[in-house]
Amino acid sequence: MEYNFLIEEAFKVLKNAYAPYSNYHVGSAILCDDGRIVVGANIENASFGATNCGERTAIFQVYSLGYRKDNIKAIAIVTDGSILAGPCGICRQVLSELLNDDTPIILSNGKEVQITNIDNLLPLRFTDKDLVK
Ligand SMILES: [Zn+2]
Repeated sequence: MEYNFLIEEAFKVLKNAYAPYSNYHVGSAILCDDGRIVVGANIENASFGATNCGERTAIFQVYSLGYRKDNIKAIAIVTDGSILAGPCGICRQVLSELLNDDTPIILSNGKEVQITNIDNLLPLRFTDKDLVK
């Protein structure tokens, strides 16, 4: 599969997740247009609201490095859960701002793989266009 290498990178960083409360580990790997792969893992907090999901860790890092949505070729998000999981609602909103609508989002739990995009994951999403009065 075209994105197997990206899934593998996401699984490598999943091992670095800090998830002492949920024991649910997430890794994410983003492929940039210059070939760079930027990764992130979920980082939990005793104050649960301060927890950061793996895909948000990765995409914030991508933006911090100076990349923007047009530089992002694909994002892989992987978990060690028994069922295939999609991004949480907060992450869908963040990804809708920071990814192009058709950027491939590759989900995997090591057993199943699904390729989608934010257009499928968050229809009728709130965007900057909605701020127009
Ligand atoms: Zn999330």
